[in-house]
Amino acid sequence: MRDDFTRRTKETLAKRVGYKCSNPNCKKLTSGPNEDENKSTSIGVAAHITGASKGGPRFNEEMNVEERKGINNGIWLCQNCSVLIDKDESKYSIELLESWKVTSEDKAKEEISTSNKNQLPTNNSFQTLFFELLNQQEIVLKDLEVTKRKTQDGKILSEEKIIGRKAIKSYFEIFRDPFKKYQSWDSQLPKEDIPKECSKFFSDAPELVKYFNLNKQLLRLLKSKSNLENIELYINIFLSKVDYYEKIMLFYYIYESKDENYLDLAKEFEILEGIKKEDLIHGETFGLI
Ligand SMILES: [Zn+2]
Repeated sequence: MRDDFTRRTKETLAKRVGYKCSNPNCKKLTSGPNEDENKSTSIGVAAHITGASKGGPRFNEEMNVEERKGINNGIWLCQNCSVLIDKDESKYSIELLESWKVTSEDKAKEEISTSNKNQLPTNNSFQTLFFELLNQQEIVLKDLEVTKRKTQDGKILSEEKIIGRKAIKSYFEIFRDPFKKYQSWDSQLPKEDIPKECSKFFSDAPELVKYFNLNKQLLRLLKSKSNLENIELYINIFLSKVDYYEKIMLFYYIYESKDENYLDLAKEFEILEGIKKEDLIHGETFGLI
């Protein structure tokens, strides 16, 4: 069964982006005149961000029907782009599609508004900075993956990696909730970039230092724009990234430590990803991330 959008939802999605394709590399107009002067031609599609049915692209089992057919799960695209995003799920991720949606709606808002011109540059620079910081996090992620591959090749763990593991452990022990986590840093800044509890473990884990600092910058940016209309979407993008990175660090940690205490956390992800506990202990899951 497909959880299709209602006619009204489709129409609203189209109107919110001025009937233009939301792919920033396309932006094609999806509605125009038909040869028959009584008709219009539409090449627009209300595409699902997470699949409309089981087995569909980016399908999220944890969503209920209402969420799946809700407007938050839709993005307006031209016919070409709607096919494109379903051909390569890993390239056209949920985060990417959500960022397209935010950018397109903001652009449409900018184009129809005449009175608030003064706010626009701030809004645009906010977006640029936000996505730039997210991209930098991707690079940090790659560094972590390199370390993982080295260990998977069967090489003996170096001192540096063990210290990295301690940093990850302290991360999970002290800073589980991303918002609480960074709140306590504010009083220490700008003198100290790393929380005191963690600093002793962090000297040899540069990728984690970068990760924390980028997250902190993103969080401050979001806080400073808390009255922006679309801020919820940006916060969700930020949090989904935090989830993703935490998952990777958790795998890394469990793989290296084989620590029984972390199996409860591992269980959470077992449910999410269908991964067996045994796999986690032996680190065979890395290819799945
Ligand atoms: Zn398009």
